[in-house]
Order: sequence, then structure tokens, then C-alpha cells
Amino acid sequence: MSQTLQSVRGMNDILPDEAEFWELFEDTIRSWLKAYGYRPIRMPIVEPTPLFKRAIGEVTDIVEKEMYSFEDSLNGEQLTLRPEGTAGCVRAVIQHGLANQAPRRLYYIGQMFRHERPQKGRYRQFHQVGVESIGFAGPDIDAEMILMGARLWADLGLDGIELQINSLGQPEERAQHRAALIAYFEENAEILDEDAKRRLYTNPLRILDTKNPALQDMCAAAPKLIDYLGEASLAHFEGVQRVLRDAGVPFVVNPRLVRGLDYYNLTVFEWVTDKLGAQGTVCAGGRYDGLVEQLGGKPTPACGFAMGVERLIALIKESGGEPTNPAPDVYLVHQGVDASRLAFRVAEGLRDQGINVLLHCGGGSFKSQMKKADGSGATFAVVIGDDEAVSGEAQLKSLREDGVAQRKLKVDDLAEAIIGQLIDSDEEE
Ligand code: ATP
Ligand code: MG
Repeated sequence: MSQTLQSVRGMNDILPDEAEFWELFEDTIRSWLKAYGYRPIRMPIVEPTPLFKRAIGEVTDIVEKEMYSFEDSLNGEQLTLRPEGTAGCVRAVIQHGLANQAPRRLYYIGQMFRHERPQKGRYRQFHQVGVESIGFAGPDIDAEMILMGARLWADLGLDGIELQINSLGQPEERAQHRAALIAYFEENAEILDEDAKRRLYTNPLRILDTKNPALQDMCAAAPKLIDYLGEASLAHFEGVQRVLRDAGVPFVVNPRLVRGLDYYNLTVFEWVTDKLGAQGTVCAGGRYDGLVEQLGGKPTPACGFAMGVERLIALIKESGGEPTNPAPDVYLVHQGVDASRLAFRVAEGLRDQGINVLLHCGGGSFKSQMKKADGSGATFAVVIGDDEAVSGEAQLKSLREDGVAQRKLKVDDLAEAIIGQLIDSDEEE
């Protein structure tokens, strides 16, 4: 006997109860983004591998060990399942010349792939809402992006999500800090773990991002990037903070916030909750002024952020968020050849009027069909037997305890009666 096939480890099916929850979430996301003038863009899930190496950086967790890369067996091209969306979005912006024209506020929602150890809030296929603005240099857009987060948490009924911000300055400032950091880590060489030793000369900043408890005290006392920032970088950072203070959005400056991708400069930020255990970052982003040029476009400032959908949905559930009620308005019960023909016509006619109908399929007795109707959670059953088929009528039966009694109606009068009662019951709630 052959073994049943399973989904790939860390890549999950999203079943209907869950998927309905997701759709509701996506509705909220789309209207929130619209309110800030963002427009959708959809990129391929597969991109050329060099795109991510150039954009994210060779010495990062993602490029070193998390990418699903493969060779196209037909033409030998190196391809990668996207581990994040910014690189592909910027590639598309350059390729189609979007940088110097509207729309420059863009968003996408979709799958990302990283070969990580699966655990709560960390999967190998996961979903992000990505938000990017291309061509804005000032701190105003950074601040607006952060304010957007605050509004979304309110829209989703979430509280207690802490905002952490930092400034990574400019590449020259980072270079000076980097030299100081290397010197400091060399002095503390006996404390460093394997990962840190490997990164000491390639990417020492990333050592500060370590999750190893043994390194925490040493990292906390390391030279701080903020002490190496020049006037312009400090002014940009102050500009962001001023808007946040004016808007009354609380934040913490976290000097160790460095982000796991190489393309960031100036502002970086994360929204973090303590309700999801170790995987507490639900949204993260920052400015990436060098990326467009690095990928072959004209120098163009930009910034963006990405939210982890799985983590946000878990947080909404944790906070008592309710899934939608997926129940149809009508369950249509029918038996007999003529009744079935009429049932199809009635179902389509009701849908024309905006009524959601679950048409019974698969036959069976009236009794068994009525059981299914009850189980469906529908507000009404519409019942058509051969007698009704002959007279062009149907029985309308409320499935709610407090509903009006069953009655026989001409099929053409059904929609009006159903809509009338749906409105009545809405008003009572
Ligand atoms: P972490 O430090 O948790 O690994 P990250 O810095 O690698 O996060 P980003 O690349 O900034 O994550 O991605 C933005 C958001 O996407 C994260 O804040 C998180 O909410 C979500 N995310 C990242 N990786 C995963 C994953 N493997 N599974 C589920 N969500 C993820
Ligand atoms: Mg990561």
C-alpha cells in the first residue's frame, strides 16, 4: 500500500474555517491600505537567485541558509522562491520604470519561503503584507508608515504592540561604527560563539542581533551606532520621532535593532508583542535608499515594511477576535426531477438578488436534506417538492428559533420575502 502524501514540513494548508478568517483579515488590510493611497502590485513568486543575493546581502541568514534555490532543469537558470518581497518589488519598479511616476505607494500580499526550523509563528511557507514607497527621501514618509501600523492595530482591535525604532545612519557612518565594533568583539573574543566568530569580519553588526543568551550582556555594552551618526542622519531620525510624538504614538528607541537584511539605512522599526512567545515581531521595516541603485536603477530613496500574516492572525485570535459567520442565507432542499430543475432556476434567481444560496446536491430524503440544512447554519430553508414544482411554488421555512412560521410562496416572490425577513432580523440584533 502506498503511503499517504503530506504537505511539505513547515508549509501549511489553510482550511476553510481558517481561510475565512484570513479573507476577513485581508479585507481589513485592503481598505486600510486604500485609506493611505497604496496601490496593489503582484510579482512572481520565483525570481532569479542573484536578485536576492544582491538585494538582501550574501552574509545574511536568509541568503546563507534560508533560501529555496534550484536550477531550472530546462535552461540551467538559478532560481529562488522569494524569501521576501522588497527585492522583487524594486526589480519590478526598475523594470517598468515606475520610480519616477505614480503609483509610488505600493503593496502586495502573498507567500514567502524560508528554510527555517518550523515552530509557532515560524514556518517555511508564510505570508507577508508588504508595503513599499519609492521616491520619498524625507522622514515624513517613514513616520507615516509607522503611523499606519498604529492605525491598523486599532482597526484589528489589537493592543499592547510595542513600537521599537532605531537609525542605522548612512553607509560611511556604519563603516566607522563597524571598525569600533570589530575592535570591541576582538577584545571579547573568548565569549563569542561560532556564528559570531564567523561573522566577526563579514557582518559584525549582525552579531548584535544574536538570540544566544550568553552573548546578551556583552552585546548590550558594545559601541552604539547612534554615537557615530552625523548631523543629517540625526536630524532625519529626530524628524521621524517628532511626527510620532505629535501623533501620540509611544515608541522605544532600541539601539540594538539592526534588522536581518543588508539593504536598510537610516530609519528601521519593529512592532513587537509579548503575547506570541519568541516569535513576537509582527511587523518590521525601514528605509532602503541604496537598493534601487544597487539593483541597477537610478538612485532613488525608498522605504517599506512587511507584516507576518500568520503571526497577526494568531494575535487576533489570542485577543479574542471572532471568525466570520460563513453561514449561507438559504439552504435549498429539493426532491424529484421537476423539483430539481426548478431548484436550479430558483437558486440562480435568488443569487441574482444578492442572496447566498447553498443548493443541496447529492439527492437523499427530505428528512436527510433538512438535517443538512440545519447543520449548514443557514437562516432559511427553501423546500421544493414535485407538488411545488407543478404549481411554481416553494416552501419558505425559517431555521432560526424565533423565525416566522413556514409558508408557501410563488417562487417569484421568494427573494422579496427573504430579503424582508433578513432585514427585520438584522434590525432586531
Ligand atoms: P525574525 O527575526 O522573526 O526571523 P525577520 O527579521 O527574519 O524576523 P523580516 O524579514 O523582517 O523578518 O520579515 C517581516 C515579518 O515577516 C517578520 O516580522 C515576521 O512577522 C514575518 N516572518 C518572517 N519570517 C517568518 C517565518 N519564517 N514564518 C512566519 N513569519 C515570518
Ligand atoms: Mg528571520
